[in-house]
Amino acid sequence: MPTKTNAAVLWGPNQDWKVEEITLDDPGPGEIRVRTAVAGMCHSDEHVVQGDMMVPHFPFVGGHEGAGEVVEVGPGVTSVRPGDHVAMSFIPSCGRCRYCSTGRQNLCDEGAKLFDTHMMTRGMGDQSHTIGDADVARFAQLGTFSEELLLSENSVVRIEPDLPFDVAALVSCGVATGWGSAVHRANVQPGDNVAVIGIGGVGINAVQGARMAGAKRVIAIDPVEFKREKAMELGATHTYSSIEEALLAVPDLTWGDMCDSVILVPGVVKGDMIEPALNLAAKGGTLVVTAIGNMFESDVTMNLFMLSMMNKEVKGTVFGSGNPRADIPALLAMYREGQLKLDELITNRYTLSQVNQGYQDMRDGVNIRGVIEF
Ligand SMILES: [Zn+2]
Ligand SMILES: [Zn+2]
Repeated sequence: MPTKTNAAVLWGPNQDWKVEEITLDDPGPGEIRVRTAVAGMCHSDEHVVQGDMMVPHFPFVGGHEGAGEVVEVGPGVTSVRPGDHVAMSFIPSCGRCRYCSTGRQNLCDEGAKLFDTHMMTRGMGDQSHTIGDADVARFAQLGTFSEELLLSENSVVRIEPDLPFDVAALVSCGVATGWGSAVHRANVQPGDNVAVIGIGGVGINAVQGARMAGAKRVIAIDPVEFKREKAMELGATHTYSSIEEALLAVPDLTWGDMCDSVILVPGVVKGDMIEPALNLAAKGGTLVVTAIGNMFESDVTMNLFMLSMMNKEVKGTVFGSGNPRADIPALLAMYREGQLKLDELITNRYTLSQVNQGYQDMRDGVNIRGVIEF
């Protein structure tokens, strides 16, 4: 019996989310049905609304962070069973491709299917999610702004049943991405100077990752005072309101050393931010670009003479260059032991019908993290 469920649907860029009833097919081979408990409101969904990220098909269910309970499994599913609690992972991990099998699940080959309209478990034209006769696409094959979800088992990671769903939902994208940007991609070492540019739901966790990796100074840069205060609460040692202000202060602050790593996480990254961000980096320093820019822009300003002569590097990262099946349980275990602060990240809670209010609050800089509770 197909399942009817309410979901926040986007019919095109620059529109509001509309809560509508969609129909889910029964789970087929390798598929599961999940009852959503909490969905995270990440900036990436806002990128689709603003048109920075073009998706190939509308209508489109938003949301790629979430946690919930498995209610039904299809034939051949072995990694979860009904009653299990899971975190959704926007990065699928098949466990068998070249990347998964070499410890780089964030680059799993299944990722090529993330923006297909049909499920990654099915062939093209095999309908799974519909409004009337129309196919409905889902963000990263998830679409967590929905009471119930039909997913590939490769898109979920089982979590311990006593962990709160809200923190599990955040770990599945923003926390893992920020923490991993510092720990995995920047490879922060004890005694390092680290700058994090942009203290949103991802940047705040880059601050936590840098602190936990033993950075001597963690410099948080954000124009919003409340976010700078939050950064100090979670491990920053110094804050500045802009890159320009930091460039004036960091030479003295670091006794001329500058920053071993700089992590760039503004809401939207622009090509003209690369040069000033690189100027914060030390000789031999690393700039990690975690935020995404407009997918149709390719102009970047950077001084190539200084890049080579100062032996610097610029690195991109997706999912903080981590492994969802290892990192999600590990981050939740660090939360359980009090090392990683997650409850402090949630600023506001919304119902599904308040989704547009939640995104307005994000635009207004009110939230570190907003979540939808079902
Ligand atoms: Zn996200
Ligand atoms: Zn794989």
